[in-house]
Amino acid sequence: MDGWLEVRDRVYCRRYEPWDVSVGVVVGRDGVVVVDTRATLGEGRELAADVRALDSRPPLWVVNTHCHFDHTAGNPAFSPPAETAGHPTLDPSPGLPVADRATIDLGDREVEVRYLGRGHTGGDLVVVVGDAGVVFAGDLVEESGPPAYGDDCHPLDWPATAARLFGLIGPAHLIVPGHGAVVDRAFVVAQQRHLQQVAGAICDLWVGEVPVEEAVAAYGDRWPFPAECLSQAVARGYRELDLSAERRRDSGG
Ligand SMILES: [Zn+2]
Repeated sequence: MDGWLEVRDRVYCRRYEPWDVSVGVVVGRDGVVVVDTRATLGEGRELAADVRALDSRPPLWVVNTHCHFDHTAGNPAFSPPAETAGHPTLDPSPGLPVADRATIDLGDREVEVRYLGRGHTGGDLVVVVGDAGVVFAGDLVEESGPPAYGDDCHPLDWPATAARLFGLIGPAHLIVPGHGAVVDRAFVVAQQRHLQQVAGAICDLWVGEVPVEEAVAAYGDRWPFPAECLSQAVARGYRELDLSAERRRDSGG
Protein backbone atom coordinates (compact mmCIF):
# COMPACT_ATOMS: atom_id res chain seq x y z
CA MET A 1 0.00 0.00 0.00
CA ASP A 2 3.02 2.27 -0.42
CA GLY A 3 3.15 5.29 -2.70
CA TRP A 4 0.62 7.32 -4.63
CA LEU A 5 -2.15 5.70 -6.57
CA GLU A 6 -3.42 7.72 -9.54
CA VAL A 7 -7.09 6.90 -9.08
CA ARG A 8 -8.01 8.72 -12.29
CA ASP A 9 -6.35 11.45 -14.39
CA ARG A 10 -4.38 13.64 -11.92
CA VAL A 11 -6.48 12.50 -8.94
CA TYR A 12 -4.34 10.67 -6.43
CA CYS A 13 -4.69 8.91 -3.12
CA ARG A 14 -2.20 7.44 -0.70
CA ARG A 15 -2.63 5.34 2.41
CA TYR A 16 -0.62 6.26 5.49
CA GLU A 17 0.07 4.54 8.78
CA PRO A 18 -0.82 4.92 11.55
CA TRP A 19 -4.61 4.50 11.18
CA ASP A 20 -4.35 3.66 7.45
CA VAL A 21 -5.59 7.18 6.63
CA SER A 22 -6.37 7.71 2.92
CA VAL A 23 -5.17 11.14 1.80
CA GLY A 24 -6.14 12.71 -1.55
CA VAL A 25 -4.57 15.08 -4.03
CA VAL A 26 -6.24 16.75 -7.03
CA VAL A 27 -4.00 18.49 -9.55
CA GLY A 28 -5.41 21.11 -11.90
CA ARG A 29 -4.03 23.71 -14.29
CA ASP A 30 -4.19 26.49 -11.69
CA GLY A 31 -3.28 24.60 -8.55
CA VAL A 32 -3.28 21.61 -6.25
CA VAL A 33 -5.88 20.53 -3.66
CA VAL A 34 -4.98 18.24 -0.75
CA VAL A 35 -7.74 16.26 0.97
CA ASP A 36 -6.88 15.61 4.65
CA THR A 37 -3.46 16.02 6.20
CA ARG A 38 -2.73 13.12 8.63
CA ALA A 39 -2.37 12.94 12.40
CA THR A 40 0.54 15.19 13.45
CA LEU A 41 2.39 18.22 12.14
CA GLY A 42 5.39 15.97 11.42
CA GLU A 43 3.21 13.60 9.39
CA GLY A 44 1.79 16.65 7.60
CA ARG A 45 5.30 17.78 6.66
CA GLU A 46 6.11 14.31 5.34
CA LEU A 47 2.87 14.45 3.35
CA ALA A 48 3.76 17.90 1.97
CA ALA A 49 7.06 16.44 0.68
CA ASP A 50 5.21 13.50 -0.88
CA VAL A 51 2.75 15.92 -2.55
CA ARG A 52 5.69 17.89 -4.01
CA ALA A 53 6.77 14.69 -5.76
CA LEU A 54 3.46 14.84 -7.66
CA ASP A 55 3.51 18.57 -8.36
CA SER A 56 6.17 21.05 -7.33
CA ARG A 57 3.70 23.90 -6.65
CA PRO A 58 2.67 24.43 -3.00
CA PRO A 59 -1.00 23.37 -2.66
CA LEU A 60 -3.49 26.27 -2.67
CA TRP A 61 -6.21 24.37 -0.85
CA VAL A 62 -6.52 21.89 1.96
CA VAL A 63 -9.94 20.31 2.38
CA ASN A 64 -10.63 18.55 5.68
CA THR A 65 -13.33 15.90 5.39
CA HIS A 66 -14.06 16.25 9.12
CA CYS A 67 -12.59 17.45 12.39
CA HIS A 68 -10.79 14.33 13.67
CA PHE A 69 -7.10 14.79 14.34
CA ASP A 70 -5.95 12.01 12.02
CA HIS A 71 -7.37 14.08 9.11
CA THR A 72 -6.46 17.61 10.23
CA ALA A 73 -3.37 17.82 12.46
CA GLY A 74 -1.02 18.18 9.48
CA ASN A 75 -2.84 21.31 8.21
CA PRO A 76 -0.16 23.80 9.38
CA ALA A 77 2.36 22.06 7.10
CA PHE A 78 0.38 23.54 4.16
CA SER A 79 -0.83 26.93 5.33
CA PRO A 80 0.24 29.43 4.31
CA PRO A 81 -0.16 29.51 1.39
CA ALA A 82 -2.96 26.93 1.40
CA GLU A 83 -6.43 28.00 2.44
CA THR A 84 -8.40 25.45 4.49
CA ALA A 85 -11.89 24.41 3.47
CA GLY A 86 -13.94 22.53 6.01
CA HIS A 87 -17.19 22.30 7.87
CA PRO A 88 -17.86 25.29 10.19
CA THR A 89 -17.49 22.94 13.19
CA LEU A 90 -13.80 22.53 12.37
CA ASP A 91 -11.35 23.81 14.98
CA PRO A 92 -9.68 26.22 14.28
CA SER A 93 -12.41 27.53 12.06
CA PRO A 94 -11.58 27.08 8.34
CA GLY A 95 -10.84 29.94 5.94
CA LEU A 96 -13.55 28.58 3.66
CA PRO A 97 -16.40 27.26 5.82
CA VAL A 98 -18.58 24.80 3.90
CA ALA A 99 -21.98 24.36 5.56
CA ASP A 100 -23.64 23.19 2.34
CA ARG A 101 -21.42 23.29 -0.75
CA ALA A 102 -18.47 25.12 -2.29
CA THR A 103 -16.60 24.87 -5.56
CA ILE A 104 -12.83 25.18 -5.93
CA ASP A 105 -11.96 26.23 -9.49
CA LEU A 106 -8.65 24.80 -10.69
CA GLY A 107 -8.93 26.31 -14.18
CA ASP A 108 -9.31 23.14 -16.21
CA ARG A 109 -11.40 21.30 -13.62
CA GLU A 110 -13.57 21.93 -10.59
CA VAL A 111 -13.49 20.32 -7.18
CA GLU A 112 -16.80 20.38 -5.38
CA VAL A 113 -17.04 20.16 -1.60
CA ARG A 114 -20.39 18.98 -0.26
CA TYR A 115 -22.07 18.55 3.12
CA LEU A 116 -24.61 15.72 2.94
CA GLY A 117 -25.70 15.52 6.59
CA ARG A 118 -24.56 14.14 9.92
CA GLY A 119 -22.98 10.72 10.19
CA HIS A 120 -19.50 9.78 11.34
CA THR A 121 -19.44 13.27 12.93
CA GLY A 122 -21.73 16.30 12.87
CA GLY A 123 -19.66 17.86 10.05
CA ASP A 124 -18.62 15.34 7.41
CA LEU A 125 -17.78 16.71 3.97
CA VAL A 126 -17.27 14.85 0.71
CA VAL A 127 -15.04 16.04 -2.13
CA VAL A 128 -16.24 15.45 -5.68
CA VAL A 129 -13.98 15.57 -8.74
CA GLY A 130 -16.73 15.48 -11.34
CA ASP A 131 -14.66 15.25 -14.53
CA ALA A 132 -12.72 12.27 -13.14
CA GLY A 133 -15.64 10.47 -11.51
CA VAL A 134 -13.92 10.33 -8.13
CA VAL A 135 -15.41 11.10 -4.71
CA PHE A 136 -13.40 11.42 -1.49
CA ALA A 137 -15.90 10.31 1.12
CA GLY A 138 -13.94 10.87 4.34
CA ASP A 139 -14.97 8.61 7.19
CA LEU A 140 -18.56 8.40 5.97
CA VAL A 141 -17.14 5.34 4.18
CA GLU A 142 -14.41 3.10 5.58
CA GLU A 143 -12.77 0.16 3.85
CA SER A 144 -9.97 -1.16 6.07
CA GLY A 145 -12.12 -1.40 9.17
CA PRO A 146 -15.77 -1.05 10.12
CA PRO A 147 -17.23 2.50 10.08
CA ALA A 148 -16.00 4.25 13.22
CA TYR A 149 -18.75 5.09 15.70
CA GLY A 150 -17.09 7.47 18.16
CA ASP A 151 -18.43 9.70 20.91
CA ASP A 152 -19.40 12.38 18.35
CA CYS A 153 -21.15 10.12 15.83
CA HIS A 154 -24.77 10.35 14.69
CA PRO A 155 -25.72 6.69 14.15
CA LEU A 156 -29.38 7.38 13.32
CA ASP A 157 -28.63 10.04 10.68
CA TRP A 158 -25.65 8.26 9.11
CA PRO A 159 -27.64 5.87 6.85
CA ALA A 160 -29.59 8.74 5.20
CA THR A 161 -26.39 10.76 4.76
CA ALA A 162 -24.62 7.78 3.19
CA ALA A 163 -27.64 7.24 0.94
CA ARG A 164 -27.27 10.83 -0.33
CA LEU A 165 -23.86 9.74 -1.62
CA PHE A 166 -25.67 7.46 -4.08
CA GLY A 167 -26.88 10.57 -5.91
CA LEU A 168 -23.26 11.60 -6.52
CA ILE A 169 -21.87 8.27 -7.70
CA GLY A 170 -22.67 6.06 -10.66
CA PRO A 171 -21.39 2.55 -11.44
CA ALA A 172 -18.23 4.00 -13.04
CA HIS A 173 -17.30 6.20 -10.07
CA LEU A 174 -14.47 5.43 -7.70
CA ILE A 175 -14.78 6.35 -4.05
CA VAL A 176 -11.81 7.01 -1.78
CA PRO A 177 -12.76 6.15 1.83
CA GLY A 178 -11.32 7.91 4.87
CA HIS A 179 -9.35 4.77 5.70
CA GLY A 180 -8.39 1.97 3.36
CA ALA A 181 -8.49 1.15 -0.34
CA VAL A 182 -10.47 2.74 -3.16
CA VAL A 183 -13.95 1.23 -3.49
CA ASP A 184 -16.85 1.28 -5.96
CA ARG A 185 -20.53 2.14 -5.71
CA ALA A 186 -21.50 -1.43 -4.82
CA PHE A 187 -19.26 -1.29 -1.74
CA VAL A 188 -20.85 1.99 -0.61
CA VAL A 189 -24.35 0.58 -1.17
CA ALA A 190 -23.51 -2.50 0.91
CA GLN A 191 -21.99 -0.43 3.72
CA GLN A 192 -25.01 1.90 3.73
CA ARG A 193 -27.26 -1.14 4.26
CA HIS A 194 -25.18 -2.14 7.25
CA LEU A 195 -25.35 1.40 8.68
CA GLN A 196 -29.13 1.21 8.21
CA GLN A 197 -29.19 -2.13 10.00
CA VAL A 198 -27.31 -0.65 12.97
CA ALA A 199 -29.70 2.32 13.16
CA GLY A 200 -32.72 0.01 12.94
CA ALA A 201 -31.37 -2.26 15.66
CA ILE A 202 -30.72 0.71 17.97
CA CYS A 203 -34.32 1.90 17.49
CA ASP A 204 -35.71 -1.61 18.11
CA LEU A 205 -33.65 -2.03 21.28
CA TRP A 206 -34.72 1.40 22.54
CA VAL A 207 -38.39 0.74 21.79
CA GLY A 208 -38.01 -2.63 23.55
CA GLU A 209 -36.68 -0.74 26.59
CA VAL A 210 -33.49 -2.79 26.66
CA PRO A 211 -31.15 -0.89 29.03
CA VAL A 212 -28.41 0.93 27.16
CA GLU A 213 -25.63 -0.98 28.91
CA GLU A 214 -27.17 -4.32 27.86
CA ALA A 215 -28.14 -3.32 24.34
CA VAL A 216 -24.97 -4.28 22.45
CA ALA A 217 -24.94 -7.78 23.97
CA ALA A 218 -28.70 -8.17 23.60
CA TYR A 219 -28.47 -7.90 19.81
CA GLY A 220 -25.75 -10.56 19.87
CA ASP A 221 -24.25 -11.69 16.58
CA ARG A 222 -26.91 -9.96 14.48
CA TRP A 223 -24.86 -6.75 14.32
CA PRO A 224 -23.32 -6.25 10.87
CA PHE A 225 -20.10 -4.94 12.46
CA PRO A 226 -18.04 -6.27 15.40
CA ALA A 227 -20.05 -5.67 18.57
CA GLU A 228 -17.07 -4.19 20.43
CA CYS A 229 -17.14 -1.19 18.01
CA LEU A 230 -20.77 -0.34 18.68
CA SER A 231 -21.08 0.82 22.29
CA GLN A 232 -20.88 4.50 21.30
CA ALA A 233 -23.31 3.93 18.44
CA VAL A 234 -25.86 2.56 20.89
CA ALA A 235 -25.17 5.21 23.55
CA ARG A 236 -25.44 8.08 21.05
CA GLY A 237 -28.51 6.59 19.37
CA TYR A 238 -30.29 6.07 22.67
CA ARG A 239 -29.49 9.63 23.69
CA GLU A 240 -30.99 11.00 20.49
CA LEU A 241 -34.12 8.89 20.90
CA ASP A 242 -34.44 9.94 24.57
CA LEU A 243 -34.15 13.60 23.56
CA SER A 244 -36.74 13.36 20.81
CA ALA A 245 -39.11 11.54 23.18
CA GLU A 246 -38.61 14.34 25.72
CA ARG A 247 -39.31 16.97 23.07
CA ARG A 248 -42.51 15.17 22.08
CA ARG A 249 -43.62 15.05 25.72
CA ASP A 250 -42.80 18.74 26.22
CA SER A 251 -44.79 19.74 23.16
CA GLY A 252 -47.70 17.60 24.40
CA GLY A 253 -47.55 15.42 21.29
ZN1 LIG B 1 -12.89 10.25 11.76
